[in-house]
Amino acid sequence: MQGAQRRSGFIRVEDLLQRDVFDVDEDPHIIVPSDPEAQKDLPRKALVLLCPAQCYVETGDRIVFSYEGCLECGLCRVLGWGRIKWGYPPSGRGIQYRFT
Ligand code: SF4
Repeated sequence: MQGAQRRSGFIRVEDLLQRDVFDVDEDPHIIVPSDPEAQKDLPRKALVLLCPAQCYVETGDRIVFSYEGCLECGLCRVLGWGRIKWGYPPSGRGIQYRFT
């Protein structure tokens, strides 16, 4: 990775995120309706395209959400306001960013 960084002169976001550590809680901190009817009011395309951790995946007539790789950026909280139950993981859990 470092050789590729030096040659290209930039660091990919995916490479930066690989340095982070996840302490995943057994209970999801974000609840997304799973029923296709309940998802009709969600901005599904935006969630799939804009979640930086790709936690939202489109499968047929609905989206599937997995919280394990969440970066806690809050974007889906805004996009799904009132329709997605959003919270941070319990203290000390979730993502631990590494900046070195
Ligand atoms: S908080 Fe951010 S990273 Fe986590 S699921 Fe929502 S959009 Fe994705």
